[in-house]
Amino acid sequence: MISIQNLHANVDDKAILKGLNLEVKPGEVHAIMGPNGAGKSTLGNVLAGREGYEVTSGSATLNGEDILELDPEERARAGVFLAFQYPVEIPGVSNLEFLKAAVDAVREQQGKDALDSVQFLKLAREKCKAVNLDQSFLKRGVNEGFSGGEKKRNELMQMMLLEPSLCILDETDSGLDIDALQVVAEGVNAMRDSNRSFIVVTHYQRLLDYIVPDYVHVLADGKIIKSGGKELALELEEKGYGWLEAAAE
Ligand code: ADP
Ligand code: MG
Ligand code: MG
Repeated sequence: MISIQNLHANVDDKAILKGLNLEVKPGEVHAIMGPNGAGKSTLGNVLAGREGYEVTSGSATLNGEDILELDPEERARAGVFLAFQYPVEIPGVSNLEFLKAAVDAVREQQGKDALDSVQFLKLAREKCKAVNLDQSFLKRGVNEGFSGGEKKRNELMQMMLLEPSLCILDETDSGLDIDALQVVAEGVNAMRDSNRSFIVVTHYQRLLDYIVPDYVHVLADGKIIKSGGKELALELEEKGYGWLEAAAE
């Protein structure tokens, strides 16, 4: 499980996370909602170890291991996956090669042999089917010329191949039409498993009709100011965040 305690983090010397606490047990899906600029993406970036995010105090452990001490690649191998933040284009590297390299690195860490090309191609084709992406995408450059929805489905496919223990999805819903949203949600739901945790960041309640969370948290001004069940998302949709922010001050 992921346990985050009193996490403080700066971006450009400015305090963004200001004492965040969160525990996500295996098998649970936690949604994080909150106003723009609250620090939601910062949380994902800090957990993934992205450059430019400085942890000033607090801890984050995944299955007892302090992940804040690890570099981003080590975190990925430890099972942390951050999706949909900046789906980068890598022209000239085929999507299939890229996915295989990512999967091989994780398997190596886990002491497993790399899959041979034929096995991997078979697996990647299965996952393409699962996310409704044409197999021709495997031959193309990573994200090169992919539409917004195709990038997200591609990243979902990567997540399926990597089988992470902590999946962090940041605004999975932005820029997706309802069909693409359903594909992504179905993919996520298919990955729900008693050994896997999800942190799903979203602005809109709508996504949570498809990915039904166990818990909903409101992140405002760098802290979680309210937690509840899935019904909290509906209440937020109706009332906004102002009433909570006022109460938290
Ligand atoms: P949210 O995802 O909740 O909308 P963010 O975590 O993206 O919020 O941003 C929180 C604050 O941190 C904002 O004020 C934002 O401008 C700032 N911030 C985040 N990332 C960076 C960055 N790379 N450089 C400068 N400021 C940043
Ligand atoms: Mg934002
Ligand atoms: Mg954000």
